Amino acid sequence: PTIFREAQAEWREERPSISRRIRGLFSRKSDPSKKKKGPSNPLVQAAVGEAIRRARSWTERVTAPEEEHQGQSSGRAGGPLPSGRKLSARKASSLVERRREHSGEDKMSMTDSFTKAHNEYSRIATKSTSLLLNELWTKKSIPDEGWTEHSIELFLQWIASHDSNNRIDMTPLGAGEREGRIASSMVRRLHCGLTHGVGRSGNLCEVQPKALGSSMLNCLANEFALHALKTLGLHSVKGAVVVPICTGMSMMMCMSHWRKSRPRARYVIWSRVDQKSAFKAILAAGYDPIMVDPLREGDSLLTDVPEIRRMLEKHADEVLCVITTTSAFAPRSPDDLVAVGSLCSAHAVPHLVNNAYGLQSAECTRRILECRSSGGRLDAFVQSLDKNFQVPVGGALVAFFKQSHATSFAQFYPGRASCVPARDFVLTLLGQGTRGLQMEYDRQRRLFERMRRKLRTFAEEIGETVYEVEENLISLAMTLCTIPAHKQTLFGAVLFSRGITGARVVPSSSKKTTVEGHEFINFGSHTPDQHAGYLTIACGVGMREDELEELFARLVSTYGRFLRKNVGRDERIGGRSVNFESDEDGETLADPY
Ligand SMILES: *Cc1c(COP(=O)(O)O)cnc(C)c1O
Repeated sequence: PTIFREAQAEWREERPSISRRIRGLFSRKSDPSKKKKGPSNPLVQAAVGEAIRRARSWTERVTAPEEEHQGQSSGRAGGPLPSGRKLSARKASSLVERRREHSGEDKMSMTDSFTKAHNEYSRIATKSTSLLLNELWTKKSIPDEGWTEHSIELFLQWIASHDSNNRIDMTPLGAGEREGRIASSMVRRLHCGLTHGVGRSGNLCEVQPKALGSSMLNCLANEFALHALKTLGLHSVKGAVVVPICTGMSMMMCMSHWRKSRPRARYVIWSRVDQKSAFKAILAAGYDPIMVDPLREGDSLLTDVPEIRRMLEKHADEVLCVITTTSAFAPRSPDDLVAVGSLCSAHAVPHLVNNAYGLQSAECTRRILECRSSGGRLDAFVQSLDKNFQVPVGGALVAFFKQSHATSFAQFYPGRASCVPARDFVLTLLGQGTRGLQMEYDRQRRLFERMRRKLRTFAEEIGETVYEVEENLISLAMTLCTIPAHKQTLFGAVLFSRGITGARVVPSSSKKTTVEGHEFINFGSHTPDQHAGYLTIACGVGMREDELEELFARLVSTYGRFLRKNVGRDERIGGRSVNFESDEDGETLADPY
């Protein structure tokens, strides 16, 4: 908050110079030094004066050749600004005269060229723009309704105009080693002129004086993050930091950050989930993972709470933290955060939650909240920006239940950082508004239910079953007993080649997969236990109705064809004979795969 206040104060001083200058283009009496209510900062005043002098000399330079040209040809009105009075070539021949002409003494201003009503309209347009930006800056929250792309572009340009390299009231002169210089104009355009990044060498959230705009953007990103979490029901969250690194790296940072407070720690207890990021984060932070396999109950894989308790009792203060996961592929259930939180609280061990794509699941957020409200310990939870907010890969959101934890986490970050993840996050939320964000999440909920119904119907038709994992509201798993185990991987590959990405076939195997010297048996299954192979699909936020329809159309036809081509009659196990459409039907022109 203090950072925000600082930036806000700086910005207040900054703002008049920009709008004044724009108004100055229109008004004859534009010299701000003559105005009673000038900006309080003498530096800003000087800058404005200088900018206006520059603008005048620029007008002079630009119009001069036009006038000469005008003198030779038949007196067309010239100059970039429309002038009510024709300039006489003779008059303009003298430098003094010309200067007088353009200093606005003799020349009519734009204001005079338009009617009073037009000028009033222009004033309102200018005012509404600045109101929009001003409101964003004072409320520092996501607007209810999304902004138009035009407004968002205005915002981005306005933000960028605060960075030293984009200032128009002075010529930037970089005398340092980091001046936001960009060699490629295409790269500059890609970044909309925001080239300084965020943070300073010692703090991710510190305001960089040369890059006020980028710093403002970063502040807004953190405020928006908190607001977004609250909008999604996580009301008790107190601090959030948008970091320009992904989930696994952010978790590594959390662990490294806690190192000092637990000097005897050597281990991290990790409830197994077969995704390597968090596991490698433990190794990267310099700890030994203690892997706790989940237990099967019915179809679901649940947290082995007694084993976690045993490990906590055995290793006590040699444990840095316990890592649980909320969002994982079925049949893995979200971990039991309440039970683990209560263990962590009893043993005074930090609890880190990998909520990679869990914001979109009411069940994941419910578990996070319940862990806290039941008095359990939960120090931080980390989620990916791309998986939850539909932005390019590159950032994560680390959330805390104390603002001071967020601040010290940001301070722990070594060095500067890209502002791209923060920028994309802010622009996305400006475009969606809280309403749009909510709508996206509501659609995910609706579509997930639909996906589950459709998959159950399909499974029933072909003699398979959908795993019952009630708590997993994102991912679904369907058995694959109609495809022999040695052909299941091929089926996965065929699905991929038909353009179905993200659907995974998980065959069972007793093979060992080694990740940096640590062995996983049956990697991909979240458990060493054997099973008959299954297919997982997920309904992530952003999926559309027509995508879901198309997914099932392709899944059904691919499955049918695969069975006919690759699975001999004698190999077909258990499955009912289903009458799928013929190959020819599947390969119509409308089908790009
Ligand atoms: C995506 C994901 C992660 C994080 O991956 P990053 O590339 O580090 O963002 C971690 N765990 C699970 C279960 C995931 O799905």
